[in-house]
Amino acid sequence: MMGIAQYTDEVPVIKGTSGILVLNKKEANIPEHSNCILCGKCVDACPVNLMPYKIARFSLLKNFDGADEYHATDCIECGACSYVCPAKRPLKESISVAKKEILTRRKKAK
Ligand code: SF4
Ligand code: SF4
Repeated sequence: MMGIAQYTDEVPVIKGTSGILVLNKKEANIPEHSNCILCGKCVDACPVNLMPYKIARFSLLKNFDGADEYHATDCIECGACSYVCPAKRPLKESISVAKKEILTRRKKAK
């Protein structure tokens, strides 16, 4: 589930494209997310050993220092955490927001 959703088939395949996943309307229908039940599945699924539910929570609270402490910038944005989450939480999206914010702050601090 790596990568970014595309809303048109007019997007070109480029050198860095490693695969294309096509979903039908039913498969692409994302249900409403619910509260985190602390099952830890996102932690088990993360290939770089992050704690996605923690980072996502910090991001939603706009606590980007907290997200940084939990190494948000190490996220490779594979989406595995969002995929396995039984509560269908948009973890990868929240983590991406934190990652961008942290990197922007670091640039400004230089
Ligand atoms: S997989 Fe979803 S419900 Fe389970 S701990 Fe992670 S965020 Fe929470
Ligand atoms: S999107 Fe980031 S936090 Fe989620 S499983 Fe992939 S590397 Fe880990």
